[in-house]
Amino acid sequence: MHVPDWNGPLQLASRLASEYLAGLPARLLGPEATAESLRKALGGQLPDHGEDASTVVRELATAADSGLLPGGSGRFFGFVFGGATPAAIAADWLATAWDQNAGLHAASPAAAVVEEVAGDWLKRLLGLPDQASVGFVTGAQMASFTGLAAARNHVLARAGWDVERSGLVGAPPITIIAGDQRHDTIDRALRFLGLGTDSITSVASDDQGRMRADALADALRDVSGPVVVCAQVGNVNSGAIDPVDQICDLAHEAGAWVHIDGAFGLWALSSPRLRPLLEGVQRADSWATDAHKWLSVPFDSGLVFSAHPEAHTGAMSIRAPYLIHDQEGHRDPLDYNPEFSRRARGFAVYAALRALGRSGVADVVERCCGLARLFADKLAESSQVEILNDVVLNQVLVRFLDPNGDHDAFTRQLVSRVQRDGTCWMSGTTWRGMSAMRISVCNWTTDDEDIDRSVAAIMRCLQS
Ligand SMILES: *Cc1c(COP(=O)(O)O)cnc(C)c1O
Repeated sequence: MHVPDWNGPLQLASRLASEYLAGLPARLLGPEATAESLRKALGGQLPDHGEDASTVVRELATAADSGLLPGGSGRFFGFVFGGATPAAIAADWLATAWDQNAGLHAASPAAAVVEEVAGDWLKRLLGLPDQASVGFVTGAQMASFTGLAAARNHVLARAGWDVERSGLVGAPPITIIAGDQRHDTIDRALRFLGLGTDSITSVASDDQGRMRADALADALRDVSGPVVVCAQVGNVNSGAIDPVDQICDLAHEAGAWVHIDGAFGLWALSSPRLRPLLEGVQRADSWATDAHKWLSVPFDSGLVFSAHPEAHTGAMSIRAPYLIHDQEGHRDPLDYNPEFSRRARGFAVYAALRALGRSGVADVVERCCGLARLFADKLAESSQVEILNDVVLNQVLVRFLDPNGDHDAFTRQLVSRVQRDGTCWMSGTTWRGMSAMRISVCNWTTDDEDIDRSVAAIMRCLQS
């Protein structure tokens, strides 16, 4: 019998990972490597014969190191990247080692039940309806895809059309109404679902990027047939939250399904202090969010909820004669997500929730929002800085004023200068036609000192 050496490579990986994580606070932000240097370090011929596992792991770690973007650093403010907690990382490792196929209860009872338990905890934490169904997907992109697939199933069934059998050819057209500041993943989900981007009626938003309820009312007046309204809690630039209570009133009166993209913003429901900002969100029909943002689990973890479990499973479920389905009292994860074989991503979500607890999740969200406010206030002390958004959650949009008047070019240059400086990392965006620096405070380790050091670095770049 061949006995593999598990210990060598796994212990080595554990040591290398701990060293990497412990080194994050001191690490320069931004990858130092170029594509060229990485190809040189990682490339070469595929070996004819296998190499020793520990050697492979050690050399991979060395070669990749300079090409890693330290997204888990407390001074990483790019995109909306959450870090990962020790419990979530460790549970994710176990999921890898256990190598469970989490599609069916029969293929991994533990993975299936952990999703059930974590799903219930999440509904309680966020105050979503008890009867809502949950799917553990790869991210908010697939969460919106799944939520909108459920919507498509539901609104067409109500129009007397079984889309799962008959497809879309000849189906009553569906109108999608979404704010003009929606995330691009909504459009992409509609492409995947065969609805196409032409199905979207874009509704005007206000100066913060919130869908305007009066514009939605106008749009609803003009449509007939099946309608889905896509609202957003947490604009990816400004953090703004759509007026969901009014949106639900208007949409439900018109018989429309309401889907919420709350990739990061939905987590504000965990905080008693922030929850009032999201009033009405619980009344929606489906919700998409990311565990890999504010819940601080490693990447590849999104969540979809539906207030109509039969539409959710109607769109996703699958039956095959060789599989073992639906045993009495069993929940098969593949009925709730688009994958078939899949990673047991519920373990990391479960561990993150237990290790943080209710108060811990709320604390991360509240702290990030408070630090975003602090970041904005400190930057605004400079006469060369303009904050472009109301800082309602964790997003700050900053414009730098050029003494010669070319604020757009100046702001873009400053973003590159800050990235090269390496104290902190953020990217640029365009907001209402203006170039802006985009700051997203989304890491559970970020503290006041991180903000101070980052503000000092930005000021240094501004003055140089
Ligand atoms: C991050 C984000 C998405 C996409 O999420 P993924 O996890 O990358 O699929 C969608 N919508 C909003 C508002 C986001 O912030």
